[in-house]
Amino acid sequence: MTPSTVDRDDLDDRAWRRVDRLKANYAGLDGGALLAPLIHREFPGRIAVVSSFGAEAAVLLHLVAEIEPATPVVFLDTGKHFPETLAYREEVTARLGLRDLRIVTPDPLAAAHLDPLGILWRDGPDHCCHLRKVLPLKRALSGFDAWITGRKRYQGDARTGLETVEAADGRIRVNPLARWSSDRVEAAFAASDLPRHPMVEEGYRSIGCATCTRCTAPGEAARAGRWAGLGKSECGIHWPVGPSA
Ligand code: SF4
Repeated sequence: MTPSTVDRDDLDDRAWRRVDRLKANYAGLDGGALLAPLIHREFPGRIAVVSSFGAEAAVLLHLVAEIEPATPVVFLDTGKHFPETLAYREEVTARLGLRDLRIVTPDPLAAAHLDPLGILWRDGPDHCCHLRKVLPLKRALSGFDAWITGRKRYQGDARTGLETVEAADGRIRVNPLARWSSDRVEAAFAASDLPRHPMVEEGYRSIGCATCTRCTAPGEAARAGRWAGLGKSECGIHWPVGPSA
């Protein structure tokens, strides 16, 4: 059976069976202890990290760099990021010695057709995320069996019940920091003297596109500044299947 004849249900079934085996083998592990066998043994050359190079990204990228700095790192360049994020991406990549940064952009023809004025984020943020994040990620992950995210349960909303290993859209998705606390993340920054995103000290605790991110007030949840007032809390790349996939 060739990949083109494998339908989505078959892929999901296989991913789910593989998740069961991975959970049985690696239950209880997280952080680098979970990543090392997955990168080296389970998915050699077939696993990538997806990073926003946001407020806490350096912790996950540091873990990955210590295990295998040639692990592909996918950055979704939506065209709407803060310039500080783009500069931080370069700083962190160089500092950690990451050797395979992959900058993925939206399809230019689709962007020109669907968002000619660049304001789709305001009128249809779900469609904008689909155009600028979901579809480019789908392209970037073709050829990979698994991908790694930096999501944590303490970030709340849909992330509250996050598992360290899950099946998503026919692939294995690994969340090695899912059970980490905010204090543990901060301790990891301090222990390795990791660089901070320059906007953190301005009050930005979760950083996405400039058009859809504001800094948070004291007492607010870290992600309260994402899509504030737009009734949206996730971009769509973390749902099991994209909104119109
Ligand atoms: S976060 Fe905002 S600007 Fe970025 S892709 Fe989503 S809707 Fe568009």
